[in-house]
Amino acid sequence: MRADTMTNDVLPTNHLLALSTDEFIAGFDAVASKFDSATFPQQILPPDSWALLVRAGVRLPTLPKQYGGRDSSVEMCRIVETASEWNVALGVYVIVNTALALLPVVKWAGEEAKQEMLPLFAGGDPLMAGLAATEPGAGSALSVMTTTFEECEGGYRIRGRKHWQALSSSADWWLVLAKNAHRNEYGYFIVRRSEGFRTVEMYEALGLKLLDYGVNDIDVTVPRHRRIDAEETGLNSVDVFLASRALLAAAGAGFLRRISREAHAYAEGRQIGRKSQSRIGFVKYRLAAIDTSSTICEALSHYLQTTVDFKSDLAPAFPAVQALKTVATERMISAAQHYQQLTGAEGYRCGSPTNIAGQAFLDTRVFSIFDGNNDMLSQQLTAHCLTRRSGRPLSGFLADWPLTAPAVAALQEDLGFLDQRLGQAQQVLAGRAIAYLIAVAHVLKWAEETAADPARVRPAIEFLRNDIVGVAAEFRLLATGILDAYGPKSRVS
Ligand SMILES: Cc1cc2nc3c(=O)[nH]c(=O)nc-3n(C[C@H](O)[C@H](O)[C@H](O)COP(=O)(O)OP(=O)(O)OC[C@H]3O[C@@H](n4cnc5c(N)ncnc54)[C@H](O)[C@@H]3O)c2cc1C
Repeated sequence: MRADTMTNDVLPTNHLLALSTDEFIAGFDAVASKFDSATFPQQILPPDSWALLVRAGVRLPTLPKQYGGRDSSVEMCRIVETASEWNVALGVYVIVNTALALLPVVKWAGEEAKQEMLPLFAGGDPLMAGLAATEPGAGSALSVMTTTFEECEGGYRIRGRKHWQALSSSADWWLVLAKNAHRNEYGYFIVRRSEGFRTVEMYEALGLKLLDYGVNDIDVTVPRHRRIDAEETGLNSVDVFLASRALLAAAGAGFLRRISREAHAYAEGRQIGRKSQSRIGFVKYRLAAIDTSSTICEALSHYLQTTVDFKSDLAPAFPAVQALKTVATERMISAAQHYQQLTGAEGYRCGSPTNIAGQAFLDTRVFSIFDGNNDMLSQQLTAHCLTRRSGRPLSGFLADWPLTAPAVAALQEDLGFLDQRLGQAQQVLAGRAIAYLIAVAHVLKWAEETAADPARVRPAIEFLRNDIVGVAAEFRLLATGILDAYGPKSRVS
């Protein structure tokens, strides 16, 4: 069906288009509640289940209005936040289908490719889409990929092997990243599974089991219009990942709201000896760590919803997104660990009737690894700042930079430790400190704009301050020469 011949009358999701945002999200919430991670099986999501979410409009905020969508960045965030509160793996499922695979087509594909693909995704058909970039020999450094494309009569031939794709054996449509077989040039290609995308081996992941993963062999020929011309559109491989990375902050807000609620309820209900677990001092500290993580992710998600338009060029948001992803995912992982500790052996039990801590731990662990590993993203954040500081010391740049200036002013911490020649290890650590400063600025802004309870704001700021102080301590540790035994490469960039 072509978009220009399509009327909204024929779409089974048509009735959702007139709803207000709150009504739309409430309807989605009612459907997402069926996927509660306390009871929903830890297995690949059946197509019927995805169909329920599709009919509830899960893809509509990503799609433009002319293709039967609701076209809303705010709703993209709220859908992910809602899904993740019920089941964080479901939140990832939604992010992959929408921000990672569909959004690049919406933003960068030509009209012919859009008309071929997008109307199919506006209806009730539970089609799925994924993005294939990672290869067995090329993960963090995609530049060494061996999947290639070559021009052929009428289009392009793409050949290679990818692995670890979310929805490997389920997705019908793929966005495949390949390198020109003859020169240093990259291209994204829209590929249908039936055209020659074969899943040759399945992987069993430790967590996020609603999604399937594996090894995918690709040998396809696609027509010319299916290429998203990276160079013409100014698109680079980093831009494609920015929306999905940023949405992990929304996932964090939903997921941590639940973890905070459940950790408190668990601690209230658990007797340790003759007293409630919640009355133990260090248990209170762990609960505070969970609560502040929840507050921080709420502030980051607020920033996303009030400032970021996923449909516009996200390249200027690059440093902010690196910080959102690294801070939010770190918070999810650490809160899941605190929660699991509080639940004792019950938190180490598959399918425990008292808590979801074990699953929360396994589901979140990968967040610092995929969608750009956090260490690399931290290094990139530092590099971004170093190239813009115009001869100033890094601490001076951060005091002026709009993303960090409010935090530097509020914290009054000595950031002089950043003003030295930074080797690779120090660049990773510096990137963490910069991301914490960006997070402090977001918490301050969120507090001001929402009149948030100071009893939530202050601890969040103090925990982030402590993280920065921790980075300074790690700088001192490196200065003792602990890496000397690992050879010169570990000390220089
Ligand atoms: C659950 C899951 C879902 C995924 N979904 C998809 C998907 O949908 N599509 C897709 O194409 N891929 C997907 N991936 C692959 C994922 O993006 C890669 O695993 C990721 O990019 C890391 O690549 P790698 O595993 O090869 O690790 P490597 O590149 O080998 O890196 C391993 C580690 O080396 C260290 N390291 C690397 N670079 C640096 C640096 N600059 N500084 C400091 N340390 C560094 C880090 O500790 C890093 O974690 C998924 C993976 C998982 C586990």
